[in-house]
Order: sequence, then structure tokens, then C-alpha cells
Amino acid sequence: MEAIRPKGISFLEEVNRSGKQIIQHCYQCQKCSVGCPVAYAMDYSPNQLIRMIQYGMKDEVLASSTIWLCASCETCTTRCPNEVDVAQLMDTLRQMALKKGIPVKERDIPEFHKAFLTSVKMGGRVYELGMMGIYKLKTRTFFKDMQLGRDMFNRGKINILPHRIRGRKEIKDIFKNAKRGR
Ligand code: SF4
Ligand code: SF4
Repeated sequence: MEAIRPKGISFLEEVNRSGKQIIQHCYQCQKCSVGCPVAYAMDYSPNQLIRMIQYGMKDEVLASSTIWLCASCETCTTRCPNEVDVAQLMDTLRQMALKKGIPVKERDIPEFHKAFLTSVKMGGRVYELGMMGIYKLKTRTFFKDMQLGRDMFNRGKINILPHRIRGRKEIKDIFKNAKRGR
């Protein structure tokens, strides 16, 4: 008798195909979560999120704050003994959530990503002051982090004028190609 297969692909398979990796390789050693600098603020730690993917908990995973709070530092990826690229997995899940129109729990974070990319697109590299201006306008958080901004400025981490790189045209081409999906 022919085996009855469920229609469509499972969430686990969808994640594996989108990210080109095999999430089943994770054996829950928790090394990723122990090293993650923002795990304390996440609703699910990185290893918990992976277990949830294995269990097919699509709605919970894509609506989690974890995927947006991840700072893409890649500590988890470096620590994983099974070569699960957890940082890239977070990217994959963010893209899936956006494509499916899932409301973002950490609403300001996509605005930060957009402000960062706009800044790079314009000057070829990030111009912190301009990026902060765009972000503050979009999120209407004008007075939040004032002290931090002042400290960064005093330590020379924020330039008044933007630095422009020579290969700006090439950077613009990268953005164009990304938009076309190349
Ligand atoms: S890449 Fe993200 S999930 Fe991994 S350690 Fe850094 S912040 Fe945590
Ligand atoms: S470090 Fe790798 S194997 Fe260990 S829990 Fe994290 S993803 Fe899974």
C-alpha cells in the first residue's frame, strides 16, 4: 500500500530549504544560548527556538521577539558543535516573518534595520548621525538614549559629517540586484 504523505512541506523543511541548512543537526547542547549576549531579553532562547522549529511551532516562532532581538553577532554560530548557523537561521526567520506579514513584536527594530540600510545605500557605509536621525524620525523616540548618544559623541564614535567611499556605484548596484532577487 502506498504511504500517505501530508500535503505541502513541514515548517522544519521550509526553514531548512530557505536557510540551506539542516536544523535537525541541533542536539540541544545549549552552547549557542549560553554565549548569546541578548538571550536574557528574548522570549525564547536560541536553542528553545530551534526545538520549537523541530516541533513545527511556526506561529510561535515567527511571532517571537527572539528573531528580532538577535544582534547577528554570530557567537552562537561559532560555538555550535554541529555547524548549525544559528545567526543565519535568525535572518531566515526574519525574512519569513516579513514575507508572511506577521506583526513584529519589537516594532522599532525593523525601522533600525531600514535606517541602517538607507544610510549604507546613500554613502556606501553607515553614517551614524544620519542613521540615528532617520531612526528617531520613524520611531518618534526623540529623547530616548540621549545620554548614550552624548557619550558616543564625546568618545568620537559619531562623526558630524559623513564619510563617503569610492565604490558607491557598486554598492548601489548591490542594492538594485538584491531588490531584483539576484
Ligand atoms: S547571532 Fe543572535 S542568537 Fe546568535 S549569539 Fe548573537 S545575538 Fe544571540
Ligand atoms: S549550539 Fe548548536 S547543537 Fe547546541 S543547542 Fe545550539 S544549535 Fe543546537
